[in-house]
Amino acid sequence: MDFEEENEKLIDHIKKVGYLRSKELEEALRKIPRHLFVPEEMEYMAYRDTPLSIGHNQTISQPSTVVAMTEALDVKKGQKILEIGTGSGWQGAILSYLVGEKGFVYSIEVIKKLAEFAKNNIKKIGIKNIEVIVKDGSLGLKEKSPFDRIIVTAAAPDVPHPYLDQLKLNGIMVIPVGNLYLQKMYVIKKLKKGFEKINIGNFMFVPLVGKYGFK
Ligand code: SAM
Repeated sequence: MDFEEENEKLIDHIKKVGYLRSKELEEALRKIPRHLFVPEEMEYMAYRDTPLSIGHNQTISQPSTVVAMTEALDVKKGQKILEIGTGSGWQGAILSYLVGEKGFVYSIEVIKKLAEFAKNNIKKIGIKNIEVIVKDGSLGLKEKSPFDRIIVTAAAPDVPHPYLDQLKLNGIMVIPVGNLYLQKMYVIKKLKKGFEKINIGNFMFVPLVGKYGFK
């Protein structure tokens, strides 16, 4: 199977549906090949625009969803980002590429085995500006805050207040909020006058667990 060719077809598809706009993200999709982030038996499906199982009842998100969330996050070089829900490490690696050598990504995963899976996947592409941490990410990561950007890749019942506290002024957070079956994707900006919240559409995510997640 020619993964490069399959990836180009996927990139074209995501452009056509209108999600992919920035050149930097298009380049990141080429530099961070998705087949390196899925279990070997799933490789042949890596370039389909669909979520895939990564074990432990979890998924690597659908490529067009990863693109929609990343575009909404409006990442700039040198930024410090917090990701909650490392999963396969693919989204985190894309963010690491976008922030460049001077930026950094902290990615939290609650399932130890998945964190190990992600670390191995990230090693394959030699990215150094990301740290995968095993803990309850619903609490955020106070000791490394404030963050320029926060991205949550699991469905939250509400916006956990630690994330609002740990976001920098003028920072952006992208988070799916709703029930277990359907969520609204919120883009939240922290402004001097308060928080600005925009809904960019409905999505379906696995649940955020932990203190501020689903019980
Ligand atoms: N971003 C991932 C990727 O690129 O593969 C996909 C993430 S998957 C849709 C959601 C992940 O969130 C799962 O791996 C799950 O274990 C994790 N998760 C759920 N609740 C969490 C919590 N409280 N803290 C950290 N991770 C959590």
